Formats: sequence, C-alpha cells, structure tokens
Amino acid sequence: MTAPLLESLLLKTAKLANDYLQSVGERPVAMNPDRAELQTAFDHPLPDHGEATEAIIESLHNNADPGIVASTGGRYFGFVIGASLPVSVAADWLVSAWDQNAGFYVLSPAAAVIEEVTGKWIKGLLGLPAEAAVGFVTGCQMANFLALASARQAVLEQAGWDAAMQGLAGAPPIRLITSEHAHGTIDRAFAMLGLGAKTAIRIPCDEEARMNVDALANVLSNGRGMEPTIVCAQAGDVNTGAFDDFVRIAQLCKAAGAWLHVDGAFGLWAAASNSHQHLTEGVQLADSWATDAHKWLNVPYDSGVVMVRHPEAMIRSTRYHGDYLVRMEDIQDPCMFTPESSRRARAIPLFAALKSLGRTGVERLVERCCERARQMAHLLSEGGLFLLNDVVLNQVLVCCPPPYENERFHDALISRIQKEGTCWLGGTMWNGQKAIRISVCSYRTTPDDIEQSAAAILRCYEELKAAN
Ligand SMILES: *Cc1c(COP(=O)(O)O)cnc(C)c1O
Repeated sequence: MTAPLLESLLLKTAKLANDYLQSVGERPVAMNPDRAELQTAFDHPLPDHGEATEAIIESLHNNADPGIVASTGGRYFGFVIGASLPVSVAADWLVSAWDQNAGFYVLSPAAAVIEEVTGKWIKGLLGLPAEAAVGFVTGCQMANFLALASARQAVLEQAGWDAAMQGLAGAPPIRLITSEHAHGTIDRAFAMLGLGAKTAIRIPCDEEARMNVDALANVLSNGRGMEPTIVCAQAGDVNTGAFDDFVRIAQLCKAAGAWLHVDGAFGLWAAASNSHQHLTEGVQLADSWATDAHKWLNVPYDSGVVMVRHPEAMIRSTRYHGDYLVRMEDIQDPCMFTPESSRRARAIPLFAALKSLGRTGVERLVERCCERARQMAHLLSEGGLFLLNDVVLNQVLVCCPPPYENERFHDALISRIQKEGTCWLGGTMWNGQKAIRISVCSYRTTPDDIEQSAAAILRCYEELKAAN
C-alpha cells in the first residue's frame, strides 16, 4: 500500500469512528435488526481476489450499522457495560498500529514496562498489596480463571502436590466454597480447571446477596484440619451491587488455611472512591482478585485484570517453556501472568484511561455512576415501582407491585422498554421474583439521561398496565 493510500484509509476510518461516537447519544439504544438483512449484507462467498480497502471499511460501517448496539452510549443499563473513554479508544488504535506482541519483553519492551506501571497504579488505586502479580486478560472471566488456577496450584502445593506438573488425577480433593450468588464465571472457571463446578459448597446469602459468614464459619470448621480449600467472595453482586464482609471472611480463611479469592468485576472500583471505600474494607486481605477495566473504568473491550498476592503460585500455574523463547534475565515476561502466549498490548488503553482521569477522575467516575443509580431508584420508586435492593453502588433492582408482580407482566414490560429504545435494560430472577435490573457504568450517563430513561420506563409501565 502506498503512503497516500495508507493515510487515506486511516483518516477515513478515523472519520467514520468519529461520526459513530458523535452520534451514539442520539441513536436508539436497542437495534432490532432483521438478522436475514445482516446476513444478506455479509454472507457472500469469499472473493477470489482482494477488494479495495477503503471500500471494505466503508461497507463495514454501513452494513453493520443496523446491528450495532449503542452500549457505549449513556443510556445502556443492561448487564454491566461500560462506555469507553475517548483517550482509551485512541490508545487502542495505537496498540493496533504498533501491533506489539505483549507476551514477551523482547517483543515489546515498551508494552512490558507500561503494563508494569499500569499494574502498580491499579493496585495503588484499589488498595491492594504492592507485591501482588498483575495480569492483563480479556475480562473478569479469564481473571477469575487465572486467579483460581493460581489458587489450585497453591492449595495443592501445600498438600505436597504440583497440579501443573502432576495433573489432578490422584490429587488431594479441593474443597470449593462460594456463595449462592457467585457469578456464573466462577463456576465456569471451576469447570475449565477440572475442579468440578458441581462440587462447590454454596453458602447461603442474606437478602442483599451477602454471604452468611456464620454459615461459612460452620462449613470451614467442619473440615478435617487443613484440607486444600478455596473460598470465593464477591465485591459487587451483579444484581444488587452488594459486598461480602471481607474482614470476617478473610479471618476465617486465614484460620482455616484457605485461599480467598474475590470476584470484583466492577465492585472493586468502589475502593477508589472515598465515599464508597468502606464497602471494600478488608478486601486487601484476600489472596487473589479479579476485575474488569472494560466495565467501570470505561476502557474498550476486551480488558480484565487479575491480581494474585503470591506471584510464584501464578507463575507456577502458567508455567511456560520453549527452547526458542527469548527470555531476559531478571525480567519476568508478561506471558507469565496471563494464560496466553501471544497477545495484544491491552494494558495501554488502560494506562491512557488512568492517566487522563487521575486518582480524582476515577473517584468521580465511580461516584457519579452511583449518584445516577440512586437518582434512577428514586424516580422509579416515585413512579410506583418497588425497589428491591439497597442501592449501595451502581446497581438498581426494581419490580412491579401487585397485581403486576408476575413474570409474564415483567417480561412484557422489559421487552416493551427495550423496543421503545430510549434506554436498554434487562431482567433477572431475584429471591424467586422476576425483577428489572439497571446498571449504571458509563461516564457518559448524565442526570438528563436518567430522567429520560426513567420517564420512558414508567411510560411503558403505565401503557402496559392500561392494556392488561
Ligand atoms: C461481568 C462480571 C464477570 C465476568 O466478566 P467478563 O468481563 O464478562 O468476563 C464476573 N463477575 C462479575 C461479578 C461480573 O459482574
């Protein structure tokens, strides 16, 4: 490609991306595309000969549009979805242009150094121990996976078994303990690690989804001495935003010789805010932590972070050799801290986001989202919906009062709100009751976005009541 063609291609792409981001606040949040239409646009035979590059980008932009969800806008409240800060999108472009293989220091000294600094900053912000190893993975699923791989390695080593080298057949059994509200990615990690998701002991929770610590104490004291044990707690329940009592849980784990892992996909960021820090009290006492940057830090996908207090356990669980691999003495390659070998320099957009926000910016981002969540809860309650959770963070859970508490009415309401298009949210089952969940995670969400969205939700509710 000639220099002018390259320049034209990249500038064109930047222009299209800019058009999208400038207009994302105005487009309907949910698209209801005709799947067949999308297929018609894309499902052509692979061309025999390559096509013009600029035309490819342009047709991607035009043809994908009906199927692009405005989840990066300010009124997307489904799942737990962050927007992306402009500086982190821009940094992400540089990452692609540089095309670094960030797995090895020799392949990208700059990426390795930036990762190390980013890791230090995150541990500092979240109040986690400076000695913890940090890995930049695709998301909290992989962060949970790798933290639990390290846990598996460590608790079995204590029992004289090297899982990485000897496998699991014949290994001492591991007692897995989670709360009944543990996120689905914890079970998936257990499954992928050969630990058997079904073997996990589920500790009951209170009405906010906090683990019952007395029940945990009971289970732990039922053990036969120091059997290999992994306990998973959470910072920020995916429905209520509630936090486990880390101080007490950590004490119990310590006494039982258990490894304590904390899934804090979004909730760990509460530690960066003065007014919410108390929710994470004691979290630094755990052995490992998993979080996301693509949720609350508003970095583009995919970006998760795993931290493990005992770097050696992590390194031994990801043991990696190859005679051709060039290793620097005294430098631990970044591939020791993720399950991948080659990978993208994904800490760089995170570095850019943190640098542009600064400590106070992260704090404001967290606090603003929590404020917006409280505003939403207030408006919906005033409008006649029942608030189901204590809004301690950015998650709001509501349901319709009798006689509309049934599942069918809720499903119809959720789908009506989604189709209406002002905002997008989803449903969940909460203590046997169908509920509507709202998650506020975007730097873009303004008080006006909340007002518009609450009005749209309540309008749909009134319309549906009138039709029933
Ligand atoms: C989102 C989430 C996960 C999974 O994170 P991914 O980024 O989707 O891999 C795990 N735990 C909790 C509590 C979450 O909210």
